[in-house]
Amino acid sequence: MLATGYTAETDPAHHAEEAALAKLADRRGADLVGATIYTSMEPCTVRRSRPTPCARLILAAGIGRVVLALREPALFADCDGVRTLRRAGVDVVERGDLAGLVRDINAHLLAPA
Ligand SMILES: [Zn+2]
Repeated sequence: MLATGYTAETDPAHHAEEAALAKLADRRGADLVGATIYTSMEPCTVRRSRPTPCARLILAAGIGRVVLALREPALFADCDGVRTLRRAGVDVVERGDLAGLVRDINAHLLAPA
C-alpha cells in the first residue's frame, strides 16, 4: 500500500483521494500506472471547495486503475468521474455490491436537507 486518505483528514475541504495523493507528492515521477486507487465514492469531476477535482488529480498522478463502490449522488455536484476516467484510459471497476455499505456510513451526508 502506498498511501491512504479520508475526507477532511488534513483539511476540512480535502477529499479522500486528494488526501491520499498528497502523501505521494514526494514520489513525483514514480510510475503509478500499475497502481490502483480504492475509493468508496466516485471521484468527483466538479468541486465547490477546491479548484481541482479528484478525477483530474488521479489522471495527473497517472494512476491506471480505480475501484469504487458508489457513484456520486447528484445532490453533491454534477459528477461524472467514472466516464471521465474511462475516457482517459483508466480501468474503472465498480463494486455495486458494496454500494449499500457506503450509503450507510454516509447516511448523514446523503439524507435530504
Ligand atoms: Zn473529490
